[in-house]
Amino acid sequence: SSQRDELDYLTKQGIKSSRTIEREIQRLNRIENYRKEFIGDISHELKTPIFAIQGFIETLLNGALEDEEVNREFLRKAMRNVNRLIYLTKDLMEISKLETGELKSEIEEIYLYEVIHDIIESLNYKAEKENIKLTIHDFDKNLKVKVDKNQVKQVFINLIENAIKYNVPNGEVEVYVYVKPKQPERVFVSVKDTGIGIDEKDIPRVTERFFRVDKSRSRERGGTGLGLAIVKHIMEAHGEKFHIESEPNKGSTFTISLHRADMVRV
Ligand code: ADP
Repeated sequence: SSQRDELDYLTKQGIKSSRTIEREIQRLNRIENYRKEFIGDISHELKTPIFAIQGFIETLLNGALEDEEVNREFLRKAMRNVNRLIYLTKDLMEISKLETGELKSEIEEIYLYEVIHDIIESLNYKAEKENIKLTIHDFDKNLKVKVDKNQVKQVFINLIENAIKYNVPNGEVEVYVYVKPKQPERVFVSVKDTGIGIDEKDIPRVTERFFRVDKSRSRERGGTGLGLAIVKHIMEAHGEKFHIESEPNKGSTFTISLHRADMVRV
């Protein structure tokens, strides 16, 4: 029969059984569903800033242009929404590359100190602007890790920016780098904040794309709802762990593990 022929053909192509074909169909269905959902999510996220920009421009065109102060205020608001669209586009490109596996990690052995050094200035600036005390506790400068440097930088930036964003006035952010005696082959990095914390039921959800506990707070602070989804993907691509501990109104600690590369093998 033609079905038999098709199976023979697929077998020749390297696909071994109808079971394998079924699995392949399931995989394609999953990708298709993922695409549909992703497009739905994106359209939804784009709508808010675009309609806001439209509203500001429309008001200006309808006469507000004559009032210099209103003029400035509306243009500033429109600009803020344009900026949001820019962040969103950047994060969307990043996450779609990570989720489709298009972005391959370029693993190299580097000093962890180097990664942190590269990003500390801009993070210090952000913390100061928000009146948050950012402390990176001393750690062994000879610690080496096997990572994709840019991806791990992105992880630290996302975690520390969140710790600043979801903090309280005059709050603190502390970064700890440490090795556990029982797991000498890993380096752990914890980002601890004194912020608003996350409700227990929401902890598993914060790594879902576009999930936010408080939509308006996230948006107001320039959030895209993609930061932790990106972190999760990057850690998975490295085969490493990502752990969240949090208590509402007390604070959160986000911990990642990295593959240590400076061990002397015996
Ligand atoms: P966003 O762009 O909204 O910050 P993320 O993916 O980085 O998106 O985080 C998702 C949600 O998780 C945030 O909207 C916020 O509700 C919560 N969250 C993330 N980091 C923290 C933190 N350090 N403290 C409290 N809540 C946090």
